[in-house]
Amino acid sequence: IERTFAIIKPNAVQNGNIGEIITAIEKDGFTIRGLRLTRLTPAICQGFYAEHVGKGFYPELENFMTESPVVLLCLERENAIARWREVMGATDPAKAAEGTLRKKFGESMGRNATHGSDSPASAAREVAYFFNAFDLA
Ligand code: ATP
Ligand code: MG
Repeated sequence: IERTFAIIKPNAVQNGNIGEIITAIEKDGFTIRGLRLTRLTPAICQGFYAEHVGKGFYPELENFMTESPVVLLCLERENAIARWREVMGATDPAKAAEGTLRKKFGESMGRNATHGSDSPASAAREVAYFFNAFDLA
């Protein structure tokens, strides 16, 4: 059994898609181990996206991720990391497969509705960045 870290990004929260995304998570067999609504600050966003700070798209990414609240999730399932990335679909919603969350709820490469960890090391880092042990059921 494996854990991954997910974010329901500002555009999906603004559009009223929290419920549908959480329903998709539960229907796909994930167990929710951590769940919190919060608003990221620029400093928190920089720490989270440390690998992207300095890239051309980072200022746009930070503006977007801090513009309104997000939902943070720790998800558990067999093969959780790879499976959650399949459920989300491609980073660019225009290239995401039919039925995926980014196809349904993404608006652009930046405003792409959800985040998912890309490796076991990222998942461990990202879960620990946002959740302490007492917040994980
Ligand atoms: P995420 O990490 O959010 O799950 P990802 O792993 O598919 O997405 P990354 O390469 O890690 O994609 O990029 C992180 C986020 O930065 C993307 O989800 C997207 O919102 C944004 N991003 C990446 N590349 C671009 C770009 N060229 N233009 C605008 N935004 C971008
Ligand atoms: Mg990524």
